[in-house]
Amino acid sequence: FWDRVTELAHQNIGQQAFEFFIEPAQLLSIEKDVVNILLDSGMKKDYWRKQSDLITTAGFEIFGRPLTYSLYAKDELSSNELNKLTSIDNVAETTSSETIATAPIANGLNEKYIFENFVQGPGNRWTLAAAVAVADKPGDTYNPLFIYGGAGLGKTHLMHAIGNEILKDNPTAKVKYVSSENFVNDYVNATRKNQMENFENTYRNLDLLLLDDVQFFSDKEGTKTEFFNTFNALYDKGAQIVLTSDRIPQELNNLEERLVSRFSWGLTTDITAPDYETRMAILLIKSESSRLEFPSETLSYIAGQIDSNVRELEGALNRVEFVAKANGITVVDIETASQALRSLKNATQQSLSNLTIKKIQDEVANYYHISFSDLVGPKRPKEIAFPRQIAMYLVRELLGTSLPAIGTAFGGRDHTTVMYAYRQISDKMKTDIEVQKDIDSIKRKF
Ligand code: ADP
Ligand code: MG
Repeated sequence: FWDRVTELAHQNIGQQAFEFFIEPAQLLSIEKDVVNILLDSGMKKDYWRKQSDLITTAGFEIFGRPLTYSLYAKDELSSNELNKLTSIDNVAETTSSETIATAPIANGLNEKYIFENFVQGPGNRWTLAAAVAVADKPGDTYNPLFIYGGAGLGKTHLMHAIGNEILKDNPTAKVKYVSSENFVNDYVNATRKNQMENFENTYRNLDLLLLDDVQFFSDKEGTKTEFFNTFNALYDKGAQIVLTSDRIPQELNNLEERLVSRFSWGLTTDITAPDYETRMAILLIKSESSRLEFPSETLSYIAGQIDSNVRELEGALNRVEFVAKANGITVVDIETASQALRSLKNATQQSLSNLTIKKIQDEVANYYHISFSDLVGPKRPKEIAFPRQIAMYLVRELLGTSLPAIGTAFGGRDHTTVMYAYRQISDKMKTDIEVQKDIDSIKRKF
C-alpha cells in the first residue's frame, strides 16, 4: 500500500516536492480505515492534506475501499508520545499493511463480495439465480455448480457471495474458498511436509468448497488424483461444491475425463458481458461511495467506453475519479472523464498497435543482458528464468495472447508454466518495487 502511495506521488508531484514532502513521511500503521502517517515536521501537514487523494486512490486500488488518514508530526509530539507511536511503527513493520488487509482468513472469503452489491443483468441473471439457490440450500439444488465466463465478469464475486451468505445463515459452516493454484500449492506443501492427514482433514470435511479458476489446475498426476478424491469425498457426503472456469468443462484439457464428467452432474451456467443498463447500474453503485458527484451523462459516457469487462469498468471509474480530484473538480463532467480515459487508452493501445511477441522478447533479453536463445531455451538458472517470466508476463499483459500460444513462443512450454510465470510476476508487481521498476522501464521502450 505505502509503495503504491509513493509511486502515485512520484507520478503526480514534482521531484523536489516529492523529496521534501513525501519521502520523509513514514507509514505508522493502518487501523481499520485510518492510515496513520508520521511527518518530520508539522509544517508539512497542509501539503499532505491537499494530497489526500494519494491515500484514497491507493486505498481503492489495494484494499478496494477508501481510506482516511491521521497525520502526526515529530516536532509536535513529546518524546513520550513519539515513542508510543513508533512502537506501533514496529508492529506496522512486521505486520505490514498488506498483511493486515489481505492476510487470508482461514476460509479465504472476502466479505465485500456479497449478493447485495452484485448487479443483476441479462448476462448473469441465471447464474445469479443459481448461486442464490445454492446459498439457500447448499448441497441440495445444483451440485456441483459450475460457472464459466470471460475475465472480470463476476465469477469470483458470486463465489464469495455464496460463501458469505451461507456463513450468515450458519456461522459454523465449514467453508473454504481457494484458487486452483492454491489448492495445488496446499497439496504440494502437505506432501512435502508429510502433512497429508492435515490436508485431507481440511478439505474433505468441508460443507462448502469454492474452487476458483479450474482451468489453471495443474495437470500433475498426484494433484489431479487428490482433487478427484476430494471431490468424491465431498460429493458423497452431500457437501456443496462450486467451481469456476473461463471455459466449459468439456474444454478443460488440463483435467481428466472422469473429473470433467462429474463437473457436469450438477448445473453448468455461464456469465456473459454486461449490457449497457447493467454497466450503468454498476457505475451508479460504485460511484456512490465517492465524495465526488457523477452526473448520469458522465457515467453514461464511461459505460459507453468500456463494454466487456466489469473489472476494467471499475478501473476506469477509479481513474476518472483520480484525475478529477487531481484537478480539484467536484462535479465530474464528460470532458474530465474523456481526458482521464484518453490517457488510459493512450498508455495501452496506441503505442502498442505494432508490438509483437518477438519485440517483447528482444527487449526483455536486451534489458537483462541475456541472449534471445537463452530466453526461449531450456535453461533454468534464476538469471534466465526470471527474465523469461517477465517476458511471458508482458506478452500476456500487453498483447493478451493465450497461455498456450505464449508457451509455444517460448520454446514449447506448457500453458501451466506460463500461468505460473504470469501469477508470479503479477504478485510481485503488487509489492516488489524492483520488479515494478523493471517492468516500467521495459514498457517505456515500446
Ligand atoms: P471474474 O472472477 O469473472 O474474473 P470478478 O468476480 O473478479 O470477475 O469481478 C471483477 C470485479 O467486477 C469485481 O470487483 C466485482 O466485484 C465486479 N463485478 C463483476 N460483476 C459485477 C456485477 N454484476 N455487479 C457488481 N460488481 C461486479
Ligand atoms: Mg475470478
